[in-house]
Amino acid sequence: MAALGFALEGCAPTTAKPQLAPKRPQLRLPPVNISYDRIIRTTIGLRPHRPSGFVLKADKLDGKTLIHNFGHGGSGMSLSWGTASMATDLALPHTERKAAVLGSGVVGLTSARELQRHGFDVTIYAATVPPDTTSNMSLAGWTPTSGLVDNQLRTTEWDLQVRQAARIAYRRLQLLAGSHYGVSWIKQYQPTDNDPSTPNPNPNPNPILPLELQGPRVVLGPGEHPFQTRYCVERDEMRIEPSIYLDALMTDFLNWGGKVVIRKFASPAEIATLSENVIVNCTGLGAKEIFKDPELVPLKGQLVVLIPQAEINYGTNGIGRQLPPDSGFVHMMPRSDGIILGGTSIRDNWSLDVEEKERQRVVDLHIELFNSMRSARRT
Ligand SMILES: Cc1cc2nc3c(=O)[nH]c(=O)nc-3n(C[C@H](O)[C@H](O)[C@H](O)COP(=O)(O)OP(=O)(O)OC[C@H]3O[C@@H](n4cnc5c(N)ncnc54)[C@H](O)[C@@H]3O)c2cc1C
Repeated sequence: MAALGFALEGCAPTTAKPQLAPKRPQLRLPPVNISYDRIIRTTIGLRPHRPSGFVLKADKLDGKTLIHNFGHGGSGMSLSWGTASMATDLALPHTERKAAVLGSGVVGLTSARELQRHGFDVTIYAATVPPDTTSNMSLAGWTPTSGLVDNQLRTTEWDLQVRQAARIAYRRLQLLAGSHYGVSWIKQYQPTDNDPSTPNPNPNPNPILPLELQGPRVVLGPGEHPFQTRYCVERDEMRIEPSIYLDALMTDFLNWGGKVVIRKFASPAEIATLSENVIVNCTGLGAKEIFKDPELVPLKGQLVVLIPQAEINYGTNGIGRQLPPDSGFVHMMPRSDGIILGGTSIRDNWSLDVEEKERQRVVDLHIELFNSMRSARRT
């Protein structure tokens, strides 16, 4: 014991307990240069939301197989490879290898590619093609549960579907990482004054997704990050650049012998006149009118885009302080086509006009965030 005591004493500091030093050197992040005169465009998109979640099922239409794959809310860019793969599984029992895909947003394009990969000769019929789709108007990060479902309307069957879709999509998107498809990993920072390592007193007993599909996270403590808050949560997240991604998907589709027909459908009866006997419905919000879906409702989204800044290679979530309950969360995502500021979601609003008050809210909150970050760096 004496020997041990000696040994311990020999290692122990002789002064009082040292002050808690930052564990890691302060992270240096260049702030976004944000002002109204740097705005280059404001875009609007209507997310196709269904309170009970997306529809993914096989139906019959005048003896044809009609597979529905629509209603992905604010999660379509994330989930589409998953639901496309599952829609293709529903098509495979059919003996024909000729299919029509209705819609040319991300859900239609990924469904068409999955069908081609399984030997189908595919024609896309769509009222509009990229860049004129909602998919082009998305932010678009890995947000597989955003605006997707009203929790109390979830069913066990639907939960199984969304979990399977997310698993497939998470892996598939990772394999597309690189400049060709515009998919990449990026660090996201969420400044906060609440200690994120404190256990949540009211955890969701049945979260939609398992933790492993949300990416790793690290909590940065005081002195370790450039924000005004005590803490900051750092996450690795996938980012998709919609213009690059959708163009690349369309090019792949055409290179594999796919055809595109510009056509708008008004009713199932019109769809039934198509020559294909396997039809996959990926019309997003358009399905409301064609199939009289009573649930589909738009969640109006708006993005304010600033001139690109090549040195910004991180995103932010929130601004570190509690926002009023009636105002939405805000976030920033840098892309090669601009610095994207988002956070708008207005239920049941079909207008494609810019929401000026909302635009100011989102820009002003980000001015507050990045200005305070600059002064944090100076001290
Ligand atoms: C501001 C904003 C931010 C978003 N951020 C994210 C994000 O970070 N991550 C994420 O995963 N998702 C995000 N989303 C959601 C995502 O964009 C949607 O879930 C996705 O685009 C839905 O894809 P879709 O192919 O079903 O619909 P769409 O892209 O709308 O495509 C529908 C297709 O169907 C065609 N069509 C419609 N009606 C008819 C008809 N009657 N006849 C013929 N063709 C028809 C259209 O022309 C179009 O080709 C965001 C959306 C917005 C608006």
